[in-house]
Amino acid sequence: MHAVVIRRGESAPAVVEKPRPSPSAGEALVRTLRVGVDGTDHEVIEGRHGGVPEGEDHLVLGHEAVGVVAEPNDTDFEEGDVVVPTVRRPPPEGSNEYFERGEPDMAPPEACVERGIDGAHGFMAEYFASPAEYLVPMPDSYAEWGFLIEPISISEKAIAHAAASRSAFDWTPESGLVLGNGSLGLLTLAMLDQRGYDRIYCLGRRDRPDPTIDVIEALGGTYVDSRETPVSEISAAHEPMDFVYEATGYAKHAFECVQALASGGVAALLGVPEPWRFEVDGGRLHKELVMHNKAVVGSVNSNREQFAAAVETLAELPEWFLEDLVTGVYDLDEYETAFEDHDETTIKTAVQFDQI
Ligand code: NAP
Ligand code: BGC
Ligand code: ZN
Repeated sequence: MHAVVIRRGESAPAVVEKPRPSPSAGEALVRTLRVGVDGTDHEVIEGRHGGVPEGEDHLVLGHEAVGVVAEPNDTDFEEGDVVVPTVRRPPPEGSNEYFERGEPDMAPPEACVERGIDGAHGFMAEYFASPAEYLVPMPDSYAEWGFLIEPISISEKAIAHAAASRSAFDWTPESGLVLGNGSLGLLTLAMLDQRGYDRIYCLGRRDRPDPTIDVIEALGGTYVDSRETPVSEISAAHEPMDFVYEATGYAKHAFECVQALASGGVAALLGVPEPWRFEVDGGRLHKELVMHNKAVVGSVNSNREQFAAAVETLAELPEWFLEDLVTGVYDLDEYETAFEDHDETTIKTAVQFDQI
């Protein structure tokens, strides 16, 4: 079968021939339909995040997948079931408490591998095998969008953890700010809209005309240009935010977002930056968090329950939004285009291996 891989030391993906996986007991064989590409894939390709499995010279890419069960084996799935795989698996040394509790998303990096990202092959291949416990069923009626379930699940988790940090008092968020107009940021903006936020904002650094600004405005959101209004000034220029969701990977935002928050507000940090030293007024930040009862929550990955929530969320996202967000779905012979990033035309892409 064909697979899209990044070879150790190379800086562009390639297609290679690999044997079709033979599922072990408890594993189903899945025929891949589509696999999405996100900012993390670019970080992996550029060698800034993740890595190839131990003892191998390449990593099969792809962690945002949807497929159809081809061989249920001894699992409870039936041939033809549409499924979405979760990303984390136990590390080579075996399972641990996080997996046993069904909370692999809470494992520290050394206690897990991530398929398609770090230490385990991903799903960007004609077939993949997976234990049934890591496959989440979804209706076949919107299988074409199923590759968006993984990124939506990321925000299901982050939003839930942020809300949980505010659960000891009466917190009803009305204003929400998303930092970053990439695919994760825009998906999250649509989710905040869906959840009844009165006012939504999204930060970028692009000139008009731009397709992401069109999506922000079509959702009823306000576009904020970080070159004109730095995050630390958003509160004064617009309003203090009950919830901030950081999806830029720009490390200064992790600190500046505290100033953007309203009293009692919470920020969720999702970005995965590289080391970067800069000056921060730690005293001001500390006092601001304390005197205004603010919270900052880091969040990574997602568990099965959050995938199941994402299946429901996806069903309710407007079709026009999905059509505008997904700017390209490419067959395997055009896979390279799915990894190209043209600001003027590209938001979210996917590689298509097969149809249902
Ligand atoms: P992406 O496509 O690279 O999106 C990032 C966006 O942020 C880009 O549109 C970029 O604008 C914008 N941006 C960066 N710095 C900015 C600044 N200073 N001011 C304004 N806008 C800025 O990535 P993504 O797939 O949406 O993911 C977003 C981040 O979340 C990445 O860091 C990724 O690693 C991380 N992530 C984390 C998790 C998790 O589980 N924690 C899951 C998925 C993704 P331009 O395009 O104009 O440069
Ligand atoms: C993936 C997560 C993963 C994270 C960190 C994200 O792009 O969606 O599943 O945990 O990167 O590697
Ligand atoms: Zn991702």
